[in-house]
Amino acid sequence: MSEHTGKVIVITGGASGIGKETALQLAAQGATIVVADFNEEGAKQVAAQIEAAGGKSGAYKVDVSKGDEVKALIDWTVEKYGTFNGIFNNAGIGLVKPFLEMDPESYHKVIDVDQHSVYYGMYYGAKKMVELNVQGTIVNTASIYGSVAAVGSFNYNAAKAAVVMMSKSGALELAEHGIRVVGVAPGFIETPILGNDKAMKDALATQHMRGELIQPEKVASVVTFLFSDAASAMNGTTVAVDDGFLSFKTK
Ligand code: NAD
Repeated sequence: MSEHTGKVIVITGGASGIGKETALQLAAQGATIVVADFNEEGAKQVAAQIEAAGGKSGAYKVDVSKGDEVKALIDWTVEKYGTFNGIFNNAGIGLVKPFLEMDPESYHKVIDVDQHSVYYGMYYGAKKMVELNVQGTIVNTASIYGSVAAVGSFNYNAAKAAVVMMSKSGALELAEHGIRVVGVAPGFIETPILGNDKAMKDALATQHMRGELIQPEKVASVVTFLFSDAASAMNGTTVAVDDGFLSFKTK
């Protein structure tokens, strides 16, 4: 039996990047994965890849900024797989604009997708675990930009800082139900969210100790650990996978 055998875990943003790699790693360790994403085709491809490798997975189309859709995702998961042991609240977007151009629409778009989605996943996820009497795990994707401000990122900074606190606050209240909540704060990860501007990506890479972008598999392996019993003493904390970004003033 592998570490995660028998667990049913929902991964939002599972069609790409960090979510996709986490889906593959948790499935390889025995978990049944619901690949939930706005990008239905991408989610289906990841689920098919898991099944082709002998794992168990299903795809689900969701807009995580809508509470009723996140609730329906969790209900569907239990109907289809019989239980629900965890959720990786990971889907996210960026929308970079100078503060004086940060109109309400740009502000709310990122807050809705990157922050409110995490509340929905935690709220409906935790309620379902309590209803099922499951002692599960919630992992939330924050960012190094939840701790330090970046130019053009007022919306993203606000959302990710909120995610760091939601992991703490949620952990505090859910511990009595045996539910753990933890966060992960990636540095600059080589995924589509960074876009195609090579010069910009090279500049970001220099802010890591090793001078390279981090591969999404490196975040996925930490998240996979956070879902395991080996991480049972980790609660409320947000772990940086940032190659030193938050620890040092580099170069
Ligand atoms: P990605 O673009 O590869 O993956 C994000 C996924 O989220 C996509 O599949 C996308 O379709 C999905 N998504 C976006 N909006 C959605 C919505 N409303 N409903 C459902 N799904 C939606 O990017 P990634 O780097 O893997 O990002 C994953 C998380 O990591 C995000 O929360 C992001 O903010 C965070 N993060 C990324 C980096 C980085 O450098 N890549 C750094 C810090 C934090």
